[in-house]
Amino acid sequence: MKETVLLDTLKEYFGYESFRPLQKKIIESVFKGKDNLVIMPTGGGKSICYQLPAILLPEITLVISPLIALMKDQVDGINANGVPAAFLNSSQEEADKQAIFQRIDKKEIKLLYVAPESLQFVDRFLTDGRVSLIAIDEAHCISSWGHDFRPAYTQLGYLKNRFPSTPVLALTATADKATRNDICKQLNIPNAKKHVASFDRKNLSLEVKPGIKRFEQISDFLKNRKNESGIIYCLSRKTTEELASKLKAKGFKAEAYHAGLDHLERSQIQDDFINDEKQIICATIAFGMGIDKSNIRWVIHYNMPKNLEGYYQEIGRAGRDGLASDTLLFHSYADVIQLQKFASNAKNEEVQLAKLDRMKQYSEALSCRRKILLSYFGEYLQEDCGNCDICRNPPEFFEGTIIAQKALSCIFRLKGSEPISAIIDVLRGSQNEVVRRNNYQELSTYGIGKDISWNHWQQYIIQLINLGYVEIAFDQNNHLKLTEQAKKVLFEKEQVYLADVKERKVKAQKDTAAITENSLFERLRKVRLEIAREEDIPAYLIFNDATLKDMEKQRPMSDSEFMLINGVGRKKMEDYGFRFIKEIIAFSKEKRETKPRKKTKKGNTLKETLNMYKRGMSVEEIAREREVAKNTIFTHLMKLYDEGEEINLHQFVPNSELKSIRNAQKELDNPNSLKSYYEHFEEAIPYETIKISLKILEKENLN
Ligand code: ADP
Ligand code: ZN
Repeated sequence: MKETVLLDTLKEYFGYESFRPLQKKIIESVFKGKDNLVIMPTGGGKSICYQLPAILLPEITLVISPLIALMKDQVDGINANGVPAAFLNSSQEEADKQAIFQRIDKKEIKLLYVAPESLQFVDRFLTDGRVSLIAIDEAHCISSWGHDFRPAYTQLGYLKNRFPSTPVLALTATADKATRNDICKQLNIPNAKKHVASFDRKNLSLEVKPGIKRFEQISDFLKNRKNESGIIYCLSRKTTEELASKLKAKGFKAEAYHAGLDHLERSQIQDDFINDEKQIICATIAFGMGIDKSNIRWVIHYNMPKNLEGYYQEIGRAGRDGLASDTLLFHSYADVIQLQKFASNAKNEEVQLAKLDRMKQYSEALSCRRKILLSYFGEYLQEDCGNCDICRNPPEFFEGTIIAQKALSCIFRLKGSEPISAIIDVLRGSQNEVVRRNNYQELSTYGIGKDISWNHWQQYIIQLINLGYVEIAFDQNNHLKLTEQAKKVLFEKEQVYLADVKERKVKAQKDTAAITENSLFERLRKVRLEIAREEDIPAYLIFNDATLKDMEKQRPMSDSEFMLINGVGRKKMEDYGFRFIKEIIAFSKEKRETKPRKKTKKGNTLKETLNMYKRGMSVEEIAREREVAKNTIFTHLMKLYDEGEEINLHQFVPNSELKSIRNAQKELDNPNSLKSYYEHFEEAIPYETIKISLKILEKENLN
């Protein structure tokens, strides 16, 4: 398959000008008829790897997916891009199924989403020659090594036997090696080419804070995020409900979500969240699997997750549109203990405990967190990331032997019978119930650490735990006890280096902070919501936030300018373009602004095209060189033509066709609609030709 065809299809149907890393390679390998395994993080752009081939391949593409709840949205989304698709799952009536079978027979469907349980229905009438590609989404579900094993997936191995000449494309966001190999083995695709994308999601900021006064910290966090969507993950149903009601009392549109709610309630909450009508979801892990909302701006872990895979997948639900998004994890020993209890009853106890340990180490890190996280997934970052709390505020190490001695001797005096909070109270000379009841004010260590704040003491003691001088007796109400090592500090002058973790006030600057009620972005969002309601599909399926941002920046005021926006394909331009353009024009008028002619990125883009054109390169050559779609270059040339550059548009349209279009212009009821020409000529003249001809005629008519 030619590269220009791939790029043209990408722009035409998905609105994007270039492929993300790996997408092109994967697609080319699919066209070579090979089996492939794709490992890409959530939001990495897996769907295009099978949706784009599906458009170009002669027969049907099967997409196996376990997410029944998500299927309808996926199909609506791809239909909105102008690709005929359908789904089959157990939620459908017999009549619906029959209707789909008929469409398949008439070769009307390019993409068919099927739940593994429903494969039997297609098995009956699809033969090897009728299936061009089999995509298996969430492929890790086939492996019991993975974290989301689904028995229905285990039968998928037969697909390769049933359709031996059809390439299989397995996709997953699960990174660990054991699972990868198991997937290939079980799917009978031992020679599949593996494509492992980087798991680095640079747009996600990482932050960990001690889990004290969590609600106050959350309130603080939300202060500058009035209109932003986010998820708070909790360990228990009870916490989700308490948290949601506290947030509601503060005026937030928050809702609890967990497995205890009935199906209807859950899907209502999901819909409201997806459509930006509910802003915050307090959820147990049950939430998120089945949703595909690209503008989640933040994720908070109220409780510690049980491993880094889960943590990474959950924070990965933020910022799928590529815009800056924030994540915050509360670190708490109580949670660790709780999770240890869960793990100790499990079958693979040792593995689970080891994974939990890595989670704990990540939370306690004193060096770039992203480095630690990615190294867990086998990736090595050369530089510190600059977008985690440690990078933004690197700890400074100092000789803290005296501080360590104070803390250790206090623990010694308390005979290992108090938890961390009481130890800090004694060190700081607090007068509270615990101190009074036990007469702690009489201890020699009482008040010896007055000069250090509560939070700092907490951090120092946690470091002493991590350094191995102190341990937590989980089985004795978390009392702190000295280890053998501690003697070296107390009696043998061993030096201790502590990290000075400064308390942070400033938040990292974000490009989303500027969102205000009356911005063009907010108005475009409203237009999007209106359309979503009219068509009864989720708002994000119309355009994602990154696309709306691009519109806000570029302010397109004509169809051809609208087509230049990243994320706008042909069908969506035709279906929705005018609504957004209308809003942009209205907005600009209200602000009494003329269109900004600033040198933006797009300006340079045009210039680059112009230079290549002047050098005599053909449209195909320019498109290939610049790795964008041919259509995009045509659009550039038309814009340059508008701006008075010397572009010979005539060379792109045969004279006879120009003539026909000139005549049609006088006849048509709606001579401004591209579509009406297209239909008038019964699709015999391509869109691009019509567009260029109209541009030529525009100038002709002026003269
Ligand atoms: P995944 O399935 O891997 O989680 P998706 O396929 O849902 O990811 O893609 C995530 C987002 O990235 C979507 O909004 C999608 O439209 C966008 N996207 C995918 N490929 C590209 C591309 N080449 N250029 C720009 N955006 C893209
Ligand atoms: Zn970092």
